[in-house]
Amino acid sequence: MKEKGNMHHAFAVHLRGIRELHRVSPRFFPILTLHSLFDAITPYVTVFFSARILKELAMLRRADILWKWVAAGVLCTGFTSVLKAVLWRRYNTLLSDLWGRKEILFIRKMFSLDFSELDRQENHDLRAQIRQNENWASWGLMRVQEVYAYFVSGVTGILSGIALTVSLFVLPVPASAGRLTVLNSPIFILALAVLMAAVSILAGKFTAAAMKGWSDAAQEATFGNRLFRHFGFIGLDKERSADIRMNDQQNLVNAYWDKNSSFGADGHIGKLALGKMGVYASLGVCITTLITGSIYVFTCLKAWGGAFDVGSITQYVGAAAAMVSNIFALVGLMGTLETNTGYLDKTFEFLDIPGAMYQGSLTTEKRSDRRYEIEFRDVSFKYPGSESWALRHVNLKFRVGSRLAIVGENGSGKTTFIKLLCRLYDPQEGQILLNGIDIRKYRYDDYMNLFSVVFQDFQLIAQPLGANVAGGMEYDRDRARRALIDAGFGERLETMDKGLDTMLYKILSEDGVEISGGEAQKIAIARALYKDAPLIILDEPTAALDPIAEAEIYSRFDEIAGDKTAIYISHRLSSCKFCDEIAVFHKGRIIQKGSHDVLAADEAGKYHELWTAQAQYYTAE
Ligand code: ADP
Repeated sequence: MKEKGNMHHAFAVHLRGIRELHRVSPRFFPILTLHSLFDAITPYVTVFFSARILKELAMLRRADILWKWVAAGVLCTGFTSVLKAVLWRRYNTLLSDLWGRKEILFIRKMFSLDFSELDRQENHDLRAQIRQNENWASWGLMRVQEVYAYFVSGVTGILSGIALTVSLFVLPVPASAGRLTVLNSPIFILALAVLMAAVSILAGKFTAAAMKGWSDAAQEATFGNRLFRHFGFIGLDKERSADIRMNDQQNLVNAYWDKNSSFGADGHIGKLALGKMGVYASLGVCITTLITGSIYVFTCLKAWGGAFDVGSITQYVGAAAAMVSNIFALVGLMGTLETNTGYLDKTFEFLDIPGAMYQGSLTTEKRSDRRYEIEFRDVSFKYPGSESWALRHVNLKFRVGSRLAIVGENGSGKTTFIKLLCRLYDPQEGQILLNGIDIRKYRYDDYMNLFSVVFQDFQLIAQPLGANVAGGMEYDRDRARRALIDAGFGERLETMDKGLDTMLYKILSEDGVEISGGEAQKIAIARALYKDAPLIILDEPTAALDPIAEAEIYSRFDEIAGDKTAIYISHRLSSCKFCDEIAVFHKGRIIQKGSHDVLAADEAGKYHELWTAQAQYYTAE
C-alpha cells in the first residue's frame, strides 16, 4: 500500500469521498450528521441532569425544584433517546442503500471509459482490488462515512465536555482550605492540558500502529477473498455441478477448505489481530485511562477543599469520562484516516482514469443521400500491451450501398478491423477516413451513430424484448416489431403472450423467457436493424444458427440492407457469395480482394483454399 503520510492529502481525499457519496445519496450525510450530533450529546445530557438532581437531593433538598429537574431530565433524555433511535433506523437504511449506490460511481466510470482502457488488464485488476478492500473490511469509500461520523461526534463530544467542565477549572478552592488552594493555580490547568496532549499523541501512535496491521494484512486478505469467491460458491455453479460430481472434483475443493487459513484464527490475519494489533490497541486504551484518573484526582481534591458540591463532582467526572472517550475515538480516527487514505487513493486512481482518446468536433453531416465512403489507408494496429501487430498495412476502400465480406482464419484480424472501424481503438499507424477526413476529427458519438453492429459476443439485457431491440425503455413499437420480423424472429414473437413486453431471462422476473442462442442472435440482429444506421456490420453473429437459418438471414439481410452499406464477417464462405467485394485477411494483412467468382478461380490463393475446404463440408452435408 502506497504510504502518503501527509495529513493534508488524507483530509483532501476523504473530503472528496464525502462529495462523491453525497452525489449518489444526497440524504445520507444530513441524517448521519444529525445522528452523530445527538449520539455525542446524549451522555452529557444525562450527566448534566444527574448532577442537578443529586445536588438537590444531597444538599438543597427543595422538593418543588427537585421535581422540576427530574421532569426536565426525563423529558430531555427521553427526547434525545427517541430522536437518536429514529435517526439510527434511518441511518441504517440509508447505509445499506449507500452500499449499492456507491457502485453507481464505478458503473458510470466504466460506461464512460475509453474502450481501450476498459480492455486493459491493469484496470480490471485495480477494480478487483478496490472491491476486495471494500468487501473484506469496508476499506475505501465506505470507510469515509464512518470517519465522518466519528469526526462529527468526536468534535461535538469534546466541545460539550469542555462546556460542562469549564467550571471545574474556574471555581476556586476557598482560602479556608489551606494548602489545597494550590489547586487554584493555572499550572494545574496547564499540567492537565499537557498530559492530555501527550497521552493523545501517544495513544494515537499506538492506535495508528494497530491500524497499520490492516494494511499489512491487505494483500493476504485480497488473496484470501479471491480464493473464497472461487471455492466458496463453486458448489452452486450450475454449469460446473455435473462436471464436479462426475470427475470427483469435490476432492480438490475440499483440499482448499482443509488448508485455507486466510481468515481463520490461526491464519496470518488472525495472528496479527491477536498479536501486534491487539497489543497496540490495548496499550492505547490503557494510557487514556491516565487522563480519566488524573481528572478524578483533581476533581476530588478540589471538592475536598470545598470548591464545589457533590452534584458537580458527578458532572465533572461523568463529563470528563465521556470527553476522554471522545478524544480517544478522535485520535484513533487519525490512524483510520491515514490507513484509509491508501485505499481511497486506489479508488480515485480508478475513478480518475483519463480519457486518452482524441475527441474531434466535426459532425458527420447527416447526409440524406447516405453517401458515406470509408477508407483504411495503410493502417497498422497493436493491442495495448501486445508486442505483435494485430493489423499490418491494411488498405481498403468501400462505398456506400456496397456489400463487403471479410473472411480469413481465426486470429487473422477480422474483428480487430471492425473494432478500429467503429473507433473502439485508434490505430498506431495510418488513417481511417470517412469521406476523406480522418475519423478522429468527428465527434465521437456522432461517428458511432453511423454504425449498427452485431458482434460475435453480443449481449442482451434482462429487460423486455422490445426495450432490448430499441436500446431504451421508450420506443417505437411498430418499428421494433418490424425489425424483429425482418430478423426472422416473427414466428417466435407470435407465440409470446406479452409480445414486445416479454421479459428476457428469469433474472428479473419469474415469467421471463429463456431464449436459445439462435433466437438471441435474431434479437441482436433486430437491434441493429432498429438503429437504422447507414452502415451495418455483422461480425459472425450467426455462429449459433444452423447453416440453413444462416443462409436465410444473410439473403434476407441483403434485401433489408437496401441502400445501406453492409459488412459481413462470416466463417461460412457460401454466405459471402452475394457480396460485391470480399477481402481475405491473413495474419493481420489483406492478402486478396475481389468478387467471389474471381477469388474462387485463383487456385493459388487463400480464398480458393478456404472455399474448397468448406465446399467439401457442404457437399458432404
Ligand atoms: P479474428 O476476428 O480474425 O478471429 P482478431 O481480430 O480477433 O481475429 O484477432 C487478431 C489478433 O489480435 C490475434 O492474434 C489475437 O490474438 C489478437 N487479439 C485480439 N484481441 C486482443 C486483445 N484484446 N488484446 C490483445 N490481443 C488481441
